[in-house]
Amino acid sequence: CGVFGVYSPQPTDIAWLTYLGLFALQHRGQEAAGICVSDGEQFLVEKDLGLVTQVFDEARLDRLRLGAARVGIGHVRYSTTGSNLRFNAQPLTVRTNKGILGLAHNGNFVNAREMRAQMLDEGVIFQTTNDSEVMLNRIARYAHLDLIEATSRVMGELHGGFAVVLMSRNTLVGLRDRNGVRPLCIGQRDDGAWVFASEPSALFAVGARLVRDVQPGELVWADREGLHSLQVLSGKPTPCSFEWIYFARSDSTIDGQDVHESRIRMGEQLAKESPVEADIVVPVPDSGIGAAIGYSRVSGIPFDYGLFKNPYAGRTFIAPTQEMRELKVKMKLSPTSAVRGKRVVLVDDSIVRGTTSRQIVQLLRDAGAAEVHFRVSSPPITDPCFYGIDTAARKELIASTHTLEQIRELIGADTLAFISEDGLREAIGGAGVCLACFNGEYPAGVPLENDVNKLA
Ligand code: 5GP
Ligand code: SF4
Ligand code: MG
Repeated sequence: CGVFGVYSPQPTDIAWLTYLGLFALQHRGQEAAGICVSDGEQFLVEKDLGLVTQVFDEARLDRLRLGAARVGIGHVRYSTTGSNLRFNAQPLTVRTNKGILGLAHNGNFVNAREMRAQMLDEGVIFQTTNDSEVMLNRIARYAHLDLIEATSRVMGELHGGFAVVLMSRNTLVGLRDRNGVRPLCIGQRDDGAWVFASEPSALFAVGARLVRDVQPGELVWADREGLHSLQVLSGKPTPCSFEWIYFARSDSTIDGQDVHESRIRMGEQLAKESPVEADIVVPVPDSGIGAAIGYSRVSGIPFDYGLFKNPYAGRTFIAPTQEMRELKVKMKLSPTSAVRGKRVVLVDDSIVRGTTSRQIVQLLRDAGAAEVHFRVSSPPITDPCFYGIDTAARKELIASTHTLEQIRELIGADTLAFISEDGLREAIGGAGVCLACFNGEYPAGVPLENDVNKLA
């Protein structure tokens, strides 16, 4: 998911700024979008299933246009639990003794189910199956504390990987889990408005400059007195490596590491670790482009566009069923003449289920490629993610049930190689990153009550 929030000292078109921010974060979730805004009195929310541009036409955006608005948050949803339901769209809003609160989050709380079960036993009612509601409910129950104190208390109760934006009628709040698994950054516009967003791309989209990343375990808030910060929790920083591999936009910088440059280094590393004789290096667009550039630079094999990507196609993994995913590959990719008669190094960011990869290899062979050497800029994905990235259930992960040679055969490549864990770590330039989906070492805990679907 993607989250965005803005607090402006002057009344401004908050709904429009939030819309622009969400549009820049569309790649982080395409199932639902929502915005809530307040002018200090009224508190409005609009959300629905669909892309940002589908949910918000002019008329709907107009309904959020409060003349004196100062605070707004927004969310683009990518469901990790498969419940693509309208009532699960965010931001979620509730009435508390601290006034109306709106909340949007990216990631997963690994102990939310247990907490929900316990609260249900105490007679608490829930409107959604969304984890956000557990967080909001906990905040509301600290009725004797103010919003910031209550939120910081709840930060310590919830475990997992998450970044949250939260608003009351006159305050914008942002926070990051104690390991900083999910990203969140702070920006500021020339007019003084503070902006919190999953990625810097969304800051630039609203004319803000990047001030800094929110620290792991940090709580930040903006109100009429400016920006405030509280380091609530301390933990070992382990930001999600998948942000650099695939999820984040290539023009973003997360925790000081440029995404595009990291992808190039992954490709360079891959070329050093797994060289091959070939004629052209072809990326699977868009997420394989950076790594293909790197592979080409180190190997000296020319980079070329061997696959055309229909720019109107979304991310294929969003399709809910296998059949739909397979059809969507063709909707999205087709080979160019560059591959005819060539020995191709095909570079992609990841192999999850292997179905897309198999189809792409076949597309290239049908187009006359002489050989296809598959190079992957992430290690084999063997374990599920519990922190908000939908890398599929374990039983669907091809690398959890097949050997390297079996995968090569299944996808029909002449050779296949994945980057090493150390190579990846080095390419991201950080010692501490989460690599749990590659090695099963979960830095921020696993669900107390295991999600049977995921572990099966
Ligand atoms: P596969 O060959 O595993 O079907 O698809 C690999 C390609 O699709 C990669 O480019 C990967 O980024 C994307 N992909 C497919 N399914 C998923 C998924 O469930 N989660 C994520 N994060 N990416 C996926
Ligand atoms: Fe990211 Fe993988 Fe860790 Fe999930 S398990 S947070 S996808 S590195
Ligand atoms: Mg891809």
